[in-house]
Amino acid sequence: MRLTHQIHQLGTETAFEVLARAKRLEAQGREVLHVEIGEPDFPTPAHIVEAAGGLPALREMIAQWARGRGLAAGPDNVVVTSGAKPMLFYALLALIEPGDEVLIPDPAFPIYESVVQFASGRPVHYRVDPARPRPVDVSEIAERVSSKTSVVVLNTPHNPTGAVLDRDTLAGIAELVQRHDLAVVSDEIYSQLVFDGEHASIAALPGMADRTVVIDGFSKAYAMAGWRLGYGVLPGSMVRHIERFVINTTSCAPAFVQHAGLAALAGSQECVREMREEYRARGELLTSRLNAVAGVSCVAPQGAFYAFPRFSRFMDAADAATREFADMLLDAYNLACLPGTAFGPAGKGHLRLSFATSRTVLQRAVDVLQATEGAPTQTQARSLAARESRPTVG
Ligand code: PLP
Repeated sequence: MRLTHQIHQLGTETAFEVLARAKRLEAQGREVLHVEIGEPDFPTPAHIVEAAGGLPALREMIAQWARGRGLAAGPDNVVVTSGAKPMLFYALLALIEPGDEVLIPDPAFPIYESVVQFASGRPVHYRVDPARPRPVDVSEIAERVSSKTSVVVLNTPHNPTGAVLDRDTLAGIAELVQRHDLAVVSDEIYSQLVFDGEHASIAALPGMADRTVVIDGFSKAYAMAGWRLGYGVLPGSMVRHIERFVINTTSCAPAFVQHAGLAALAGSQECVREMREEYRARGELLTSRLNAVAGVSCVAPQGAFYAFPRFSRFMDAADAATREFADMLLDAYNLACLPGTAFGPAGKGHLRLSFATSRTVLQRAVDVLQATEGAPTQTQARSLAARESRPTVG
């Protein structure tokens, strides 16, 4: 893995290194006197503690989990972070030199573009189009690789379209990445929310584990977004650098949250199956209702929990029209959804609707979209909203 020059500028806090060494010695049966770390030695007051504990066992459990998906990973390939987002941030900062080109999906989770730009890299878009039999066209990625390209960002299942990359697409990307000696950051946070078939990770393909950072977490599959727990599975040579980011920022994910994460992976996965089935049913309901609205088309999501309907009347309108439409839906109809353009240029004319909410809310959301049918601009939409009989989502 080729890491940035800048990463060597990041120092550490010796207390953490000494603590880690001391813990290893204790694990060998030595008694260690701990005066290295400024951590209160009082127990957390009982009323705060409901389910507490600290645990290196989480990394082993994550590695085991990753092996179950075909990755050759041990605990030394795992870094636990406070959510998937910090891991994404650290991985991109570790891999992008100023001026590097980074291939990112369009549309995409907006954090990719934001962090690439922050790292003084240049985002280069490749298209994800769920309407195609293969949403990502490998030859299109190949055309965009230049001598400056260093990283390819993948996201499967995909936010915001719900597209899922199949093994052939991943194999094509893997071949390309190895031929051009690139790194991959593969955001697989929705890996357990694939509606048909199995999730496939590029890191499980031959030769890819050494050049891929897999990002995953607990927010989506286990409904733990507020707990802030995520992780990376990455080449061993990269781990100590990423650990330095963690030491320089949060020190570690809270111990009791890690404990909860261990319970999530070690326990029955029935809860995930049930939630996935409900997401699937909601996705089907939302898609079929959206497709019944004139001028709206929506490809059924194959995973994650987002629908990305296309409104034909905005396709030839000004770019701002998509955002104006979303703004109007909130201002006039109390419908909060996201304009597709928040996810990149390919989001023009689309809205993103999350179906991580009840079927009732989804039904009412489509009622609103139906009522606003044929409202092409902000001005016209406003006058439509002014009509008396408008439905609202409370
Ligand atoms: N990656 C993608 C594609 C996401 O959609 C999200 C959340 O919306 C995240 C990462 C962030 O996950 P976390 O809550 O674990 O930071």
